[in-house]
Amino acid sequence: MKVPFIDLQKQCRPLKKEINKAIADVLKKQNFILGEEVHEFEKNFAEYNKVKYAVGLNSGTDALFLSLIALGIGPGDEVIVPAFTFIATAFVVSYTGAVPVFVDVDERTFAIDCAQIAKAVTKKTKAIIPVHLFGQCADMDKIRDIAKKHSLYVIEDACQSHGAEFLSGRDHNAFKSGSMGDTGAFSFYPTKNLGGFGDGGMITTNSGEIHEKLLKLRDCGRKSKYEHSMVGYNSRLDTLQAAVLNIKLKYLDAWNEKRRKNAGIYSELLKDIPGVIIPECASFSTHVFHVFAVRLPNRDKVVEYLRSKGIGVLVNYPLPLHLQDAYRHLGYREGMIPTAEKISKDIISLPMHPSLEKGQIEYVVTQLKNALKL
Ligand SMILES: *Cc1c(COP(=O)(O)O)cnc(C)c1O
Repeated sequence: MKVPFIDLQKQCRPLKKEINKAIADVLKKQNFILGEEVHEFEKNFAEYNKVKYAVGLNSGTDALFLSLIALGIGPGDEVIVPAFTFIATAFVVSYTGAVPVFVDVDERTFAIDCAQIAKAVTKKTKAIIPVHLFGQCADMDKIRDIAKKHSLYVIEDACQSHGAEFLSGRDHNAFKSGSMGDTGAFSFYPTKNLGGFGDGGMITTNSGEIHEKLLKLRDCGRKSKYEHSMVGYNSRLDTLQAAVLNIKLKYLDAWNEKRRKNAGIYSELLKDIPGVIIPECASFSTHVFHVFAVRLPNRDKVVEYLRSKGIGVLVNYPLPLHLQDAYRHLGYREGMIPTAEKISKDIISLPMHPSLEKGQIEYVVTQLKNALKL
């Protein structure tokens, strides 16, 4: 049996007619740059996340980067990021000339360890970038308290958490991921829970001032076509991508529900296998299972075995950011951020997508049990 890590063809098949029509409309109008589909998608995405504004961009990386630029972060500043995430979370800090300060993560939720954040704050610290890793929100009540106490900006990396909700104990309310910080950064990379037919991204915010700035920053600093009021970038979301994403957005909740159901089947089948640690759902967040990650012994051997049985698995992530060559100059050494280092050695991502079937999950678990006996 073949079980792909993700199956975009199967997921898109029922939407084919609708998407083809949307693409044909754009081709007819030839409004490829900042066409009305972009503004429509921004409006729908803002509404979905219950925020005032959304700005369409060319990637999740730029959504994080332009958030930092809009907040005035640059040389001489420090920004706190988790050591266990996709590298873009840290790279964007470096692009501005600021320095990423790596903090350990919680062993159960894989999100930034709030107890460690305060220890990393210095006079230079300007912001925190919590990552809602694998589809579950970081503890935003605690993070917002720390940010308030030290006057720090909060930029949510919501690139893996489209649709996840934080259940705030303080406000007794549910908030969509990406709606609680100064900005929220989303990616529409094809394999994300909401993915386009290419690169794409979005910033969400409730600040009118940040919104105004972002509209210029993403479009060459334009005031009018050839008048530029600030040094800007070319970071616009394509009209074609917006047209596709506008349709896919309607299915996001149903897809996330299927991911949750599949995660439930996995967890039930995996829960009594000695040595296997299944993902823990925090009481303060819903989980949209962008990644279904378990921890187990002999990880590299298990990866090899499962791949030989036709099962698509990945390792998110095999090397924490502080130990990457790209950040050798910052002087971190092995042993300094222990939980991130430990997790990176025993974590594995199993196939997870909305069109995964029960029989496929059972096959993955059977083969996983065989692999553990080797
Ligand atoms: C995907 C991702 C990004 C970057 O998004 P791109 O659209 O690929 O630039 C940033 N942070 C995290 C956590 C991601 O998963």
